[in-house]
Amino acid sequence: MANKLISLAELSRGTQKSPARGASEQLPPGAAPTLQDLTECLMFSPGDGRIWLNGARMLLMHSSGIGALRRELIESMGLARARGIMLRTGYHCGARDAALIKERFPESDTLALFAAGPLIHAIEGAVKVEPVHFEFDMNLGTYYGEFLWHHSSEDDEHIAQYGIGTEPACWMQTGYATGYTSAMVGRLILYREVECRSTGSSICRLIGKPAEEWDDAEEDLADLNAEPFVGSGGSTAARHASAKGGDKGALPSALQADPAPAQDGEMVGISSAFNAACHMLRRVAPTQATVLFTGESGVGKEMFARMLHRISPRSEAPFVAINCAAIPENLMESELFGVERGAFTGATQSRAGRFERADGGTLFLDEIATLSLVAQGKLLRALQEGEIERVGGSRTLKVDVRVVAATNVDLRAAAQRGEFREDLFFRLNVFPIHLPPLRERKEDIPLLMTHFLHRFTQRHGRQLSGFTPRTADTLLAYDFPGNIRELQNLVERGVISAPDGGAIDLSHLFTSGERLAQPMFSIGVRGQLAAAPNDQAPGAGATSEPASADNQALQALFGGKDLRRLSLQEIEDTMIDHCLAEVKGNVSEAARRLGLTRAQLSYRLSRRPAGE
Ligand code: ZN
Repeated sequence: MANKLISLAELSRGTQKSPARGASEQLPPGAAPTLQDLTECLMFSPGDGRIWLNGARMLLMHSSGIGALRRELIESMGLARARGIMLRTGYHCGARDAALIKERFPESDTLALFAAGPLIHAIEGAVKVEPVHFEFDMNLGTYYGEFLWHHSSEDDEHIAQYGIGTEPACWMQTGYATGYTSAMVGRLILYREVECRSTGSSICRLIGKPAEEWDDAEEDLADLNAEPFVGSGGSTAARHASAKGGDKGALPSALQADPAPAQDGEMVGISSAFNAACHMLRRVAPTQATVLFTGESGVGKEMFARMLHRISPRSEAPFVAINCAAIPENLMESELFGVERGAFTGATQSRAGRFERADGGTLFLDEIATLSLVAQGKLLRALQEGEIERVGGSRTLKVDVRVVAATNVDLRAAAQRGEFREDLFFRLNVFPIHLPPLRERKEDIPLLMTHFLHRFTQRHGRQLSGFTPRTADTLLAYDFPGNIRELQNLVERGVISAPDGGAIDLSHLFTSGERLAQPMFSIGVRGQLAAAPNDQAPGAGATSEPASADNQALQALFGGKDLRRLSLQEIEDTMIDHCLAEVKGNVSEAARRLGLTRAQLSYRLSRRPAGE
């Protein structure tokens, strides 16, 4: 069973309003968390082989070990790529620390939490940070910070290996500051060393401000994205071909100093989980191999498939997508392979199927696990022979199609249970790429918030400064069961609802009494699942009283449990069990009542763990 997810509404109720702006000079002496408070977060458990910083496992390792790793990276992949890796590693640590401190000190106001970053960085032994000045106004979306670094460990290592040079060398630490502050603010705040001991200064001086306020941020931004194709909008094949030397031009437009109009299908992320998937995508794109994308709904499987097509040698030919779960079983074959006139009642014209339309290009089969066994067999034949036959036709047509599939279930397990053809599974599973859920790449949330804010303000012609602190806090802490798609929808709604010139507040994410986080379902008159009509907006004086007969039935069905605390899976399982009980186990009838095809319902039932 999926772990319990806290709804966005619940999270937002817990957020208190802390001042949206402040400056380092206003920090009261002794404001929590102090150095003492933070030190108490660090726990050594030597007998157990673990060190903890609050809930996160830490490592105590030799500074010279990091120096050795750095050196290997520089020697093996060159300075630019090594710098990128160190910067992203630092970003990861900074973003994690920010999340951890927010969680541990929920009562502290934003100013004190900003000030805690340098303290925790010092506790971890990287560097002593002396704040010169920092100030922020989250309603205006502004931030400026200036810090001095004393005896940076990274400089020690760099100077020991390479001596004094011409470029700053505190890469990981700069990444840390960027990650920490971005995760505090909910937008990308880019730091740069304007002085560094590795260039002969006595100390390092660090300045941070929003990415778009730096004149020439391209290189820093390229370092934040491991993959040059990431974010490139149009014809990327040529750019990709020339990208081996470290193309700095292809950046997510949301992050560019002078952003081009944002396009759909851009991919943004700094986390290792996301970048690992990008690396694999780039490796497989130039080949003809079949690719299988796995991952939860909303993680961007179609976007990855489109990017695969765009950076492949087939990019000039069509990309054709089909969602297998959305096509009725009896129409699947004609949809995939086409139909000849008169093949069946209603086939008044000959029509090409998706295979034919994708000839020379890429065919994307989403939710492949919902294909019937018959359709699976025909798909396998098409893949093996490179030939198809239209329904009702006798001609064999040669097609040259690269098939890319996606699923949110474990196909191997389905194959073992006999619900998915094993031969087809092996044929599809040539090159699997797993896309992580957003909750496993939380450090990407500030980047994605910035990205979507930019995209939707452009698309809808709005002028907005950003997110209010409580909105940023809520979004950064939220688990996003609907993944990137859910975040995208929330930001778009906020962009539309917020007043011009202002910031997106929580109230703009919840409109018309609708809850966005986990859509609730009620049973309609015909036993179909439908979005619950009487769901309540948070903080609007809403009560939890059931408002209608439907809702009362729903309450009874779920044994009085608070539906907002149930996962979508639990709700779905309960609905299905209830319906099956009502029709005495008749799967076809239950499917009809639930508004599903029999195949779709069987598939959902088969997906359950054995013994349930
Ligand atoms: Zn330095």
